[in-house]
Amino acid sequence: MNRRDEIAANLAEVERAIANACAEASRSRDEITLIAVTKTFPVEDVQILYDLGIRNFGENRDQEGSAKAPALPSDVIWHFQGHIQSKKIKSIVQWAQWIHSVDDLEHAKKIAERSPGHRVLVQVDLEKSSGEKRGGVQLPDLPTFIQNLGNVDLDLRGLMSVAPLGINPSDAFLDLERVFQEMRRAYPALTNLSAGMSGDFVEAIAHGATHIRIGSSILGKRPPLI
Ligand SMILES: *Cc1c(COP(=O)(O)O)cnc(C)c1O
Repeated sequence: MNRRDEIAANLAEVERAIANACAEASRSRDEITLIAVTKTFPVEDVQILYDLGIRNFGENRDQEGSAKAPALPSDVIWHFQGHIQSKKIKSIVQWAQWIHSVDDLEHAKKIAERSPGHRVLVQVDLEKSSGEKRGGVQLPDLPTFIQNLGNVDLDLRGLMSVAPLGINPSDAFLDLERVFQEMRRAYPALTNLSAGMSGDFVEAIAHGATHIRIGSSILGKRPPLI
C-alpha cells in the first residue's frame, strides 16, 4: 500500500470511531474538531492529510511547526500543544493560531505582548500523585490562574489536558469535565475542551471534548524524536 492509501485508510478508521463515539454520547460530529498531530512526521504526510480534507494540525515543537506551516496552504489552522519555552514564543505565535499548553502566567503575558488577542487554552494537570508530570496548572490553582489571565490580552477559549499514564482515562476525563463545567459557570465564553489522543479519544468525546488530538492512529508509529 502506498503512503496515501495507508493514511486514508487509517483516517477513515478514526473517523468511524469518532462517529461511533459521538453517537454513543448523543453528540453531533460537528461539535468536534479533529486535530491531526503530525509531530515527527514529514511535511509530505501533512500534505496528504490536507488533500484528504484535514485542516487542523498539531505540533509540539516550534522548530518543526515553523518549518512545516509555510509549506501548507493558508487555510490550515496550526495548533501548538507542546511544552512552551519562553524564548520560542516569538516564533510560535507566528505560525500557531492556537496555543493549547498555557500553564504559566509569565508565558501568557509574553504571548500577549508578541501577539495581542492570541487564541489560547489553559493546560490543566490531572495527575493526582507525584507521578510523571506532563505539564499544566494544578487543579487547585486553576481558578486563580484563570482569573489572573483576565488581565492579559489573550483570547482564552477553554482548557486542554493529557490523561495521566496509569489512570483509567474515563476517570481522568470525568474530573476534567467537572472542572470544565465549573469554570464555564463563571466564564461562559470558555467553550473549548481539548482532550483525547489516539488511545483515549473515545473517552474524551464521552466527556465533552471539542478538540481531539490524534497522531499515531492516523499516521502510524512515530519516528523517534531526534
Ligand atoms: C503526541 C501528542 C498527541 C498525539 O498522540 P497520539 O497518541 O500519537 O495520538 C496529542 N497530544 C499531545 C499533547 C501530544 O504530545
